[in-house]
Amino acid sequence: MALVLYHKNRPEEQYQFLRVRLNEVYSFIEYRLQDPYHMHMNFMAQDVKTGLEKTFFAELCMFNDVDDGNSGFVATACEIVDGNSEGGRRIKHIFKDGKFPPDYYDAENCYACAERIKHPPGACYRAGHDVLGYGVGEEDSLVE
Ligand SMILES: [Zn+2]
Repeated sequence: MALVLYHKNRPEEQYQFLRVRLNEVYSFIEYRLQDPYHMHMNFMAQDVKTGLEKTFFAELCMFNDVDDGNSGFVATACEIVDGNSEGGRRIKHIFKDGKFPPDYYDAENCYACAERIKHPPGACYRAGHDVLGYGVGEEDSLVE
């Protein structure tokens, strides 16, 4: 589903979905957004032309009815990331000057995911920028 969005933005590229690992999916609730249910994940896909495997980041947001066939989720971001991409800062909160950012909002980074989830630059995705206050379910803490 997320790759459909990626291909729409970059019609000259063609990737085939390979796999997603369960412990690379984070679901969270961001209270400050109107549609608060989100998922961030990394998954692997293969370049159809070159055969090269790439790691992707996807953000899904629950906009629709849960019975629509995709559990109501719509892809709101899909980008290629790599080992140098920023990890989530859920555990390791690092702030410039050691202070909370203004309005507890950091547009550059994600504070909902753990470090191992690689993220594209912050402007690419909509959720996770709230420094505090995520409703994260029990099942998510099991995969820390
Ligand atoms: Zn995230």
